[in-house]
Amino acid sequence: MKEKITTQKLQTLAERYGNSFYLLDSAQFRSNYRELKSAFEAVYPHFNIAYSYKTNYTPKLCKIVDEMGGYAEVVSEMEMEIALCCGVMAEKIIWNGPVKSAECIEELLLAGGCVNIDSLAEAERIQTIADRHPDKIFQVGVRCNFDVGDEILSRFGFDTDGEDFGKVCEILAGTLNLHLKSLQCHFAKRKVEYWPGRAAGILAVYEKVREKYGIIPDRIDLGGGIYGKMPESLSRELGYEPPGYEGYAKAGASELADRFYGGQREKREQIPELLIEPGSALVGDCMQFVTRIDNIRNIRGKWIATATGSQKNISMTGLNPPLEVFDGGGERKQYADMDIAGYTCIEADYLYRHYTGWLGTGDFLVINNCGSYSVVMKPPFIQPNVPVLDIGYGMDKVEVVKRKEGFEDLFRTFYFA
Ligand SMILES: *Cc1c(COP(=O)(O)O)cnc(C)c1O
Repeated sequence: MKEKITTQKLQTLAERYGNSFYLLDSAQFRSNYRELKSAFEAVYPHFNIAYSYKTNYTPKLCKIVDEMGGYAEVVSEMEMEIALCCGVMAEKIIWNGPVKSAECIEELLLAGGCVNIDSLAEAERIQTIADRHPDKIFQVGVRCNFDVGDEILSRFGFDTDGEDFGKVCEILAGTLNLHLKSLQCHFAKRKVEYWPGRAAGILAVYEKVREKYGIIPDRIDLGGGIYGKMPESLSRELGYEPPGYEGYAKAGASELADRFYGGQREKREQIPELLIEPGSALVGDCMQFVTRIDNIRNIRGKWIATATGSQKNISMTGLNPPLEVFDGGGERKQYADMDIAGYTCIEADYLYRHYTGWLGTGDFLVINNCGSYSVVMKPPFIQPNVPVLDIGYGMDKVEVVKRKEGFEDLFRTFYFA
């Protein structure tokens, strides 16, 4: 974060927006986007980013991605609606995910978007839709599943050595108005060691589809699962030092660059567009969660502070997030091995364990790296969610990009009588 946070600035925001809120830095988001894009373009020029909405679908961010020329990577009808409400053109929408309704698939295909097929049943539904619209050409992708050495059996997409994969290729080869736009994969493990395996795996599928079925996809999509920038305290907690955007670009795109920009390319063969689907890598370090200490107690010798926010706001399970404490003006003492708990009635709701340092009632906690799986994961449990304030234009020029939720926001779907 460029601008220095001070107690004074936090006091001003708290008076206006309450005791807990998110600070979003949209300028940092833009700069991450630019930097990640250049890192991959340096290795593989025909490249673009498809932003993973589910990681943080704040419309402000989705619009920035669109404005910067990126794609919207959505995994539900709801997320497709977010993209459309942000003004994203259907051609810039990529729909992934294991369950999709046939009506919405049809809607997106008719509008020109790309649907990544996840199962044979879905391929058959799409074939039926295609048969009903012989005058239209539909853009589809296939989610590919192979071993990248991460010791996880992914449940998504087609086992590319399996029978169903052959069947989906036959459907694509035999249905004139279904165009294989993209071969896609995504693996959740973020270590860079698994990235060369993604490239090798998808390249093998590309060659197979081309030789055996005569289909040439326009795009290769390596998915998300990249660690973004983080302070040293967090990488120590993780036990892993992320290699940075360049590291992922080298690991993920080098073999593809050799194949398509090197000597192996046949004359007239198109260079496929390379996509990745980052969420966390772009947004992780762009949000901070600010909360305050409500009370401090001692239980059988253990010091416990309770905050006005919850672990559910930061969604960092089992890890101590990067934390800064600001004097809130109350009486402060020095503590050792203190646990900082959240407002919910869940025993395990701790934001931070083993805190050692000064703390007092009213102090502000500023928790960094809260951009991914936070606002989108916070359940309406016990309390509505807090506002999101964009400080990308400076802390004295905040823009409210999500207002504080209220009772009506959550209870309009329940009947009281
Ligand atoms: C979740 C997901 C992503 C983004 O994952 P991050 O860990 O946020 O990078 C990208 N693509 C697909 C298909 C996903 O399910």
